[in-house]
Amino acid sequence: MSYYQKNRDAILQKRKSYYENNKEKILARESGYYKNEDGKKRKTINAWKRMGLVADDYEALYDLRKNAEKCWICEKAFQPDDKRCLDHDHETGKFRQILCYSCNVRDNWKNKVSK
Ligand SMILES: [Zn+2]
Repeated sequence: MSYYQKNRDAILQKRKSYYENNKEKILARESGYYKNEDGKKRKTINAWKRMGLVADDYEALYDLRKNAEKCWICEKAFQPDDKRCLDHDHETGKFRQILCYSCNVRDNWKNKVSK
């Protein structure tokens, strides 16, 4: 029996109560504020700063990402709903390239293992 099977009820219950407790926040996020282009941009840029990304012009970077056509590593064309990730130098925080989600995850994984 897997962990999930054994704890399925507890996990589902936890998930449900998280939703109940955060309903307003979740609904606001889904329906309004962050779908607004300005709110989305501010939220994204704040997240970049929090993760230590360094850029001369965050707004320009945001537009660059938005308009990116393909992943720099695997060259797969982005679909409108694809997650676009910013690859950055983990030493300096400087932006490097725009990657698809799976390339970005693989890169992180590699960095983790080699350290
Ligand atoms: Zn890729």
